[in-house]
Amino acid sequence: MHDLVVIGAGAMGLAAAWRAANNGIGCLVLEAGPVAGGMAAHFDFGGISLERYYHFICQSDHDTFALLEELGLADTLVWKRTTMGYFDHGKVHDWGNPLALLKYPHLGPIEKLRYGLLAWWCTKRPNWDGAEHMTAPEWLKEWLGQSGYDKMWHRLLHQKFFQYTDVISATWIGTRISRIGRSRKSLMEERLGHLEGGTQTLVDALVAGITQAGSEVRCSAPVAAVTVAENDLKRVELGNGEVLLAREVISTVPTPVADRIFPGLSPDEHAKLAAIENIGVICLVYRLKKPVTGHFWVNIMDKAHPIPGLIEFSALRDFGGDTIIYAPYYMPHDNERWDYSDEALLDDAFAAIKAVNPQIGEGDVIDRNASRLKYSQPICTPNFLDKLPPVETSLPGVQIADTSYYYPEDRGISESVGLGARLAETAMKRLGNG
Ligand SMILES: Cc1cc2nc3c(=O)[nH]c(=O)nc-3n(C[C@H](O)[C@H](O)[C@H](O)COP(=O)(O)OP(=O)(O)OC[C@H]3O[C@@H](n4cnc5c(N)ncnc54)[C@H](O)[C@@H]3O)c2cc1C
Repeated sequence: MHDLVVIGAGAMGLAAAWRAANNGIGCLVLEAGPVAGGMAAHFDFGGISLERYYHFICQSDHDTFALLEELGLADTLVWKRTTMGYFDHGKVHDWGNPLALLKYPHLGPIEKLRYGLLAWWCTKRPNWDGAEHMTAPEWLKEWLGQSGYDKMWHRLLHQKFFQYTDVISATWIGTRISRIGRSRKSLMEERLGHLEGGTQTLVDALVAGITQAGSEVRCSAPVAAVTVAENDLKRVELGNGEVLLAREVISTVPTPVADRIFPGLSPDEHAKLAAIENIGVICLVYRLKKPVTGHFWVNIMDKAHPIPGLIEFSALRDFGGDTIIYAPYYMPHDNERWDYSDEALLDDAFAAIKAVNPQIGEGDVIDRNASRLKYSQPICTPNFLDKLPPVETSLPGVQIADTSYYYPEDRGISESVGLGARLAETAMKRLGNG
């Protein structure tokens, strides 16, 4: 029997298990995938250990900093000056500081003023209460006007959310703008961070810490069902039929999966979990011989290319002179592109890279790869917190959370490790170690 079973070995599950294990709780982490890390996991990209999904750190990621400190990894955090751009009307334009805004050719003076005020106010705003009832398009149009919204935001939102564009929460978008806006050294200088060795450095340290404390992380061990047995013990059934018993269970799997593996939840909890929709992502990455723009992030406004942006990761982390560039295709699962082959999408997005920098050709490609994630981004609508069932479920000793539970913040490693630690504290209190 286990004191604590944690389901999911992403950042949240590992942080929860690490905290509990280091406080004397025997933990077992069960992970469906072949490796730990979840969205933060790496893969072998032709000899480079690389994130499947690009990851940067912002200056407001306080829970990450605290965890790195505790793990003795604070020195692996590297900050870099980064820049961003907009690819519009066939040209890359600088973006992300007042001078770039003034020079941007596709906004009028009033639109620029409104945009600048929005960006400034997002970083200063003490809370988001006044916007919580609004959708992102309503709120952005209020700030930017219809034309400003159409020129700068509609396409970006639509290329990610498609039919959900008009129901995305204003607070959720505002918090994203604020996170990037606050990650600056000065008005003119954006600074983003990464870990030496990438997010795998954090994943490896958490797994090592859990193991050294006498607990276990078991991969390729999908949980099929969790029910409550006699004396409130949880009966955890794995995909291979093995059954384990636990006093406490923390689930960090995406809410659609949690809805399925906890059949004993109340009808209200099931209804609320089932109502949270997710979009998927197919994240393409290329290793090239030449830089594309030198900007870390370029928003793609050109309608010919169905990706919202390009993330030139080598502008943040050094790969010995090679360029690493990601192209994320976010989309609902009913989008026709979801069924496209990896090769078709890799060709498709490479056309965008070539359009952004016509000097790049097929001969510059060293390697390329596609990674798919079905539940990559919950659809957060206005008043989203009211729609979530509580973390403490009606099943005694069972907590359920995923990335939607730190709304209005967007998915982030810092938010996941922070929530993971809080889930562990609750379990520890009940187990008598808190
Ligand atoms: C494209 C992309 C870019 C991102 N960029 C950034 C960034 O720049 N900065 C940043 O901070 N964050 C970023 N994130 C978000 C960040 O990766 C996540 O917030 C964080 O890793 C989530 O961790 P988690 O543990 O909460 O969830 P997950 O990582 O999803 O972990 C859940 C785990 O549960 C496992 N699981 C599922 N079903 C079962 C089952 N039945 N049994 C057992 N295990 C199961 C899954 O395999 C997974 O490992 C990005 C995410 C994506 C997709």
